[in-house]
Amino acid sequence: MGPNGEIGPETGWTFHVRQPWYETWWAITLWVAAALLAVWGYAWLRGRALHQRAAHLEARVSEQTVALRSTVEELRRAHADLAAANARLEELSLRDELTGIANRRRLQQALAEEWSHTRQSIAFLLLDLDYFKRLNDTQGHLAGDLCLQTVAGFVAEAVRPYGGLAARYGGEEIAVLLPGLGLDRALQVAERLRAGIEALAIPNAGAPLGHLTTSVGAAAMLPAVGASPDGLIEAADLALYQAKAEGRNRVCAGREELAS
Ligand code: GH3
Ligand code: MG
Ligand code: MG
Repeated sequence: MGPNGEIGPETGWTFHVRQPWYETWWAITLWVAAALLAVWGYAWLRGRALHQRAAHLEARVSEQTVALRSTVEELRRAHADLAAANARLEELSLRDELTGIANRRRLQQALAEEWSHTRQSIAFLLLDLDYFKRLNDTQGHLAGDLCLQTVAGFVAEAVRPYGGLAARYGGEEIAVLLPGLGLDRALQVAERLRAGIEALAIPNAGAPLGHLTTSVGAAAMLPAVGASPDGLIEAADLALYQAKAEGRNRVCAGREELAS
């Protein structure tokens, strides 16, 4: 406005408000770049840490795998040793110590197994050395032991071709299991054993013949209803008793009921 109140021409003002520097495009670009860099840096650091951890774990796993493998190998070896020792023990528990042939336990196992698995006749021989006490008395117990070893070895070998199993049944008694044989064939085998033992010509000065002989009881049965392994053994035992009573050095047959 002038001194007399006149109004002057309009005056125009132009203001330029300056943008703060942090809102400039280059600052924003910088912000974005910094943020991206921070994210990338964080991700890289985290990735590296994870990678290192994974590598460390992997190393531990492979260390422990090696240790585990050797433990498993040791266990496998120990298991094999134990199984071998068990098999050896099992074998020893079924063998007669003096003669090396099967023992009575083994024979009874075999008889029971055969009895439950076959429908064929099963034969059983019971051998008892004659006047064996006199052999011990005249030549000593050690000579008696050697004689038992010789006879047992002979019987075990002699019955093998028939699929037979020879076992030391008692002191100077040997039993033979002959699966699949009827009484007739069992008597033939028994006679071969008797003659074979006599042919060994083992001196027994106290015996009437001057050498070792044996008596044999033979029996055979079908594993049918009413028959039993014990019945078979008993029949052979009675036949042996008869052979002794009739003068020894002979074979006698058991009752023929159920025999084939
Ligand atoms: P028999 O003709 O009646 O059978 O007469 P035996 O003298 O053979 O019969 P007995 O059963 O009376 O005697 C068996 C003898 O066998 C008794 C024992 O001295 C002997 N004997 C048993 N076991 C062994 C052994 O392991 N070694 C030795 N050397 N002798 C044994
Ligand atoms: Mg006897
Ligand atoms: Mg005897």
